[in-house]
Amino acid sequence: MAKRKIALFGGTFDPIHLGHTIVAAEAAEQIGADEVVFVPAKCSPLKETLPRVSDEDRFKMMALATTENKKFRLSRCELKKSQPSYTLETVRQFRADYDFDASIYWLIGADSIDELPLWYGIEKLISECNLSVMYRAGFEPPDFTKFKATWGQYRVEKLQKNVIKTSLVDISSTEIRKMLANGADVSEMLHPDVAKYICEHQLYQADAD
Ligand code: ATP
Repeated sequence: MAKRKIALFGGTFDPIHLGHTIVAAEAAEQIGADEVVFVPAKCSPLKETLPRVSDEDRFKMMALATTENKKFRLSRCELKKSQPSYTLETVRQFRADYDFDASIYWLIGADSIDELPLWYGIEKLISECNLSVMYRAGFEPPDFTKFKATWGQYRVEKLQKNVIKTSLVDISSTEIRKMLANGADVSEMLHPDVAKYICEHQLYQADAD
């Protein structure tokens, strides 16, 4: 029997927006994934600022945004830890949870490529899962040739093979936070229930980056 394919999608999701859910659905389709598990981060070791809203608010908005897609799941595994966790640890945990019998994909947007050399255990991560880079509006199509000398031909070819040509959805959480702080309408960038939640709980009203 073919191995199950599980796509993990980590991030701050502060807040989750349509860019996240559209590309995740397309990635699932292209990979042929059985599930996409959204894994909200406590606070990214590479982001200088903390999430603007609580873990609970971020998680609730993610639940609202993902409920209609049967393949989407949410995991609290990183939120439950006392420290921010590294992607490699999370991937290893999922591999064990699935009895080492599933192919694990870790999805990221093309904006994160230049940060990859700073990721903890990046070479192990590339070897132990399918690190799948998706296209992102405003960024060059993923290309890993410049990493050949550091990571070697095999890893670079693996990364290149796992690139996912998703639609360019020009939305970011930073833009949404800025617009909300300026009282602008962001409803077209969010699932309607997320827009409602933000409004009801008066989130992101203060000036943000
Ligand atoms: P911020 O603006 O706060 O950095 P963001 O919109 O990039 O937030 P994150 O929660 O940091 O959202 O993103 C989680 C993951 O989703 C990252 O790998 C990011 O590259 C990817 N991603 C976010 N938005 C998009 C998008 N519109 N298209 C493709 N990938 C995206």
